[in-house]
Amino acid sequence: MQMIDNYNFAGKKAIIRVDFNVPLGAQYEVSDDTRIRGALPTIKKVLADGGSVILMSHLGRPKSGPEEKFSLRHVIPTLSNLLGTDIQFADDCMGKQALEKSAALKPGEVLLLENLRFYSAEDKVKTDEEKAATKVFAQKLSTYADVYVNDAFGTAHRAHGSTAVIADFFAQDSKMFGFLINKEIEAMDKVLHHSDKPMTAIMGGAKVSDKIQVIENLLDRVDNLIIGGGMTYTFIKARGGEIGNSLCEEDKLDVATELVKKAEAKGVNLILPVDQVLADKFDNEANTELAGIDQGKEGFMGLDIGALSIEALTEVIMNSKTILWNGPMGVFEMPNFQKGTVSIAKAIAESTAQGCFSLVGGGDSVAAVNKFGLADKVSYVSTGGGAMLEYIEGKVLPGIKAIRG
Ligand code: AMP
Repeated sequence: MQMIDNYNFAGKKAIIRVDFNVPLGAQYEVSDDTRIRGALPTIKKVLADGGSVILMSHLGRPKSGPEEKFSLRHVIPTLSNLLGTDIQFADDCMGKQALEKSAALKPGEVLLLENLRFYSAEDKVKTDEEKAATKVFAQKLSTYADVYVNDAFGTAHRAHGSTAVIADFFAQDSKMFGFLINKEIEAMDKVLHHSDKPMTAIMGGAKVSDKIQVIENLLDRVDNLIIGGGMTYTFIKARGGEIGNSLCEEDKLDVATELVKKAEAKGVNLILPVDQVLADKFDNEANTELAGIDQGKEGFMGLDIGALSIEALTEVIMNSKTILWNGPMGVFEMPNFQKGTVSIAKAIAESTAQGCFSLVGGGDSVAAVNKFGLADKVSYVSTGGGAMLEYIEGKVLPGIKAIRG
């Protein structure tokens, strides 16, 4: 496999799939530039070698054709500022401008293409007809450049035109991952295949159903599996506890029981919270009470873990050498129910300072470490929630397969 580190881009045009799917404010200004900054090392490497860069990305979910609010034009000021160079723009990724401007691109120059998803051929790939259209679309994109670089981890689990299909139109030594995807793979492989023990996975968030596969795959790898957040209550109800109005997936009670049995059989320490903060409504201003985790009651829902759980989980985290964290311990968006999630995030940061390797991924846990200012105190924060979960489930990601083979 061609590695970006030892590739010389001098005189080459590189088309780079980046993830510029950034949040925009009221005036369409970029309100969080994390993803743009994530792409800089790869862009800078190509430019420093004496190559030129064609950037392509999606932004949002346009329904049919161009829409101002999804235009990639809005990222130009931020990108230009961060790179310290002018950015050329093609207002249609398939149009005359894209063709002419990419053909005229000189070493050191950067061209940004308009949103790929203004064409349904980019991401509609179900029927044979759609797949054929995607091939044509991807083939045309490939003609703009000599080399293809995929650095968009957030879409690596999609078999879209620009994330996977385009790779078929480049020779093995002319396609590669960018630095960001390389870092993501390295972090996930460290956790999955080369972890120092004890290893602890912390799974939170709302639903068990989203994470069954991940939990199953992790049972072969971890020493401790901590379950927190809303998904706790499906496990509690399954073991006969009282959950009142807490979140519960009635059709997953058997699955929860099975997972507990499997963990036991594999010698994995499955840890559930022991206490909780009950609330009389789903509201920051709700009346609250502390209760044991099995002592829910009618008219109340558990919205955070309690102090005893925080203490017990902190001890496990502090004794771990590898940690994977996905999903909050409670409704951390509401200040009165964020304590469990903040405490766990702080414990992970502290354990990391003592030499533990910690990988945080999944939209909400990433939002949590950012909100609490701890993002640079963990070992790695993944940029792809869905992609990371699928990789950890053991699935082959189309965007990775397209390059690795
Ligand atoms: P997920 O997308 O499955 O990772 O779930 C994240 C969401 O779960 C966040 O928006 C949290 O507010 C929510 N959540 C976490 N704990 C609870 C809980 N005990 N009850 C209801 N929602 C929760």
